[in-house]
Amino acid sequence: VTDKIAALPNNAHYFSLEFFPPKTSMGFSNLQTRLERMSRALRPLFVTVTWGAGGSTATKSLELAEICQRQLGLTTCLHLTCTNMSRTLIDDALEQAKTLGIRNILALRGDAPRSEEYRDEAQLLEGDSNEDFTWAIDLVRYIRKKHGDYFCIGVAAYPEGHADQSHPEHQDPLFDLPYLVEKTKAGADFIMTQLFFDVEAYDRFETMLRTHPSGVFKTIPIIPGLMPIQSYQILRRTTKLSHAKLPPDIFARLDAVKGDDELVKQVGVDILSEIVEHIKKSDGSGKRGLHFYTLNLEKAVAHILERCHLIPILAEEDEEAVAIDYSNNFT
Ligand code: FAD
Repeated sequence: VTDKIAALPNNAHYFSLEFFPPKTSMGFSNLQTRLERMSRALRPLFVTVTWGAGGSTATKSLELAEICQRQLGLTTCLHLTCTNMSRTLIDDALEQAKTLGIRNILALRGDAPRSEEYRDEAQLLEGDSNEDFTWAIDLVRYIRKKHGDYFCIGVAAYPEGHADQSHPEHQDPLFDLPYLVEKTKAGADFIMTQLFFDVEAYDRFETMLRTHPSGVFKTIPIIPGLMPIQSYQILRRTTKLSHAKLPPDIFARLDAVKGDDELVKQVGVDILSEIVEHIKKSDGSGKRGLHFYTLNLEKAVAHILERCHLIPILAEEDEEAVAIDYSNNFT
């Protein structure tokens, strides 16, 4: 990923798309067809494949990563969590990623460790405990120790905090900052953020990183995460889960059309396009990346990319590969 970013001209824009592994074989086959279309028409710099916390989707995540990397030839970044999972599973995932030709890992913690459950005797006897993995930094260090520079490593960051008293964990960009510094120093090559709709909060966060006295964030790619709006209900659910604030004006625009799914999508494309245009302008690093949480859906992200002129232009001989018209509807 970082080699591809480095090869882009200065002031270039690029984007990545996130997909999760479907549960059924029918879902896989539908997603594969969609991915083929999206990779030809939208041409992301890279795609990412999510990992179920605790390894719950290990096989399916690797299957989807294989489709992306091997069958579709997309530069693929595999998410990998490290808590509530045996070391063997982590080793297997990294080895399989290598076999598939995957060179990028988004190193994550996953859910907070449930250490008691995992310290069962069999695991300890076999030396297969996951006690070594409490935070994402432990996985970053582990990958660097075992695999040197083979993998390009991304880490997660959170532009917004939350004051949710019912939540067991504190989330606050200032509280996270020293840990993010350490995580980056431990060997991260790029930073990818949680989704957000509050561009001012994002600007503050990015400035805080770029101007940090440690200098570790000076040039590292920081890729903001954006989620196209697919429906009012999904939006409410994901903002609650991610603690992303909906600024009042955005909430009002969506609330006004919440009874009409098609209008929600159209207004959602307007909102996301405005966010993209704002972010496109504000980076000081010379290149601007954007990451889209697609929820495996195609149209909304395609509209945003088209509208914001983010789709890379093809050389003439490849042009017949692009003839997809997204302009008719949003479904
Ligand atoms: P960490 O970097 O370990 O941080 C977790 C918290 O612990 C932070 O609040 C940090 O400040 C604190 N902390 C870190 N080190 C220390 C320390 N030494 N002492 C005290 N506190 C410390 N989850 C999945 O299950 N699957 C996915 O595919 C997935 N993809 C994601 C993609 C992105 C871009 C993002 C932003 C998140 C994703 N997540 C995914 C969610 C992620 O696993 C959770 O948010 C998790 O709770 C934290 O992961 P982390 O890697 O940020 O953890």
